[in-house]
Amino acid sequence: MRIVVKVGTSTLAHSTGNLNIRHMEELCKVLSDIKNAGHEVLLVSSGATGMGAGKLGLVEKPEDIAAKQAAAAVGQCELMYTYDRLFEQYGHCVAQILLTRMDVEDEDHRANLHNTLFRLLEYRALPVINENDSVATEEFFIGENDTLAAMVGGIVGADLIVLLSDIDGLFTADPHLDPEAELISDVREIKPELLEMAGGPDNELGSGGMYSKLKAAETAMSVGCDMIIASGSQPDILYDIVEGKSAGTRFWAGGDNS
Ligand code: GLU
Repeated sequence: MRIVVKVGTSTLAHSTGNLNIRHMEELCKVLSDIKNAGHEVLLVSSGATGMGAGKLGLVEKPEDIAAKQAAAAVGQCELMYTYDRLFEQYGHCVAQILLTRMDVEDEDHRANLHNTLFRLLEYRALPVINENDSVATEEFFIGENDTLAAMVGGIVGADLIVLLSDIDGLFTADPHLDPEAELISDVREIKPELLEMAGGPDNELGSGGMYSKLKAAETAMSVGCDMIIASGSQPDILYDIVEGKSAGTRFWAGGDNS
């Protein structure tokens, strides 16, 4: 199986901004084991800006573009240094790929990216992908990594894209606020009502940043990839996922007939 796994800052870091060592160690261990079992893994990892801000000792969260880009430049090193050390323990080699929208959308750039990713997989390296936050300009900004993961999934023809999130999947309401909220385990079509339930584009916090995840799922489905949203607090869930067991919410690219 070829699988793209996306992890967000909420999985990689504590609310203090410091590294969540347990989560990161578990994630790297499970991904290494999944690779050892013969699967191909690509990791889309956020965390550069947050880690950079922490490393620079910035008291305030960086707000202006130059401060965010500077923090990302520092944090990306820290992120790769951490992944390199952790994956090396299990004999895996990481490769950093930083992208802007142009690399995915321009035909020549995309072909290049495709070839590089496939060569890395052939070499059994583990591509660790992020947006090129330190230089991306507004024109070529993707902005969030859920969509980036869906785009990467399309380029490599992934069997599955997994978004590890701070919630267990898509719920009928925000589970942080509503105890009656129920998990929706299968989605075969992203209907407008679903996007509305997630709070719409202007209310990203409506149900835990779910709107951008639904838009990413829409992109994944349109390029023929299934997507799963599951909790990143227990990276072990990836074992169930590669074994085809039900976990979190699965978006089926096959639509109604799958
Ligand atoms: N690329 C951003 C970073 O590494 C994260 C984007 C996102 O969280 O989706 O800080």
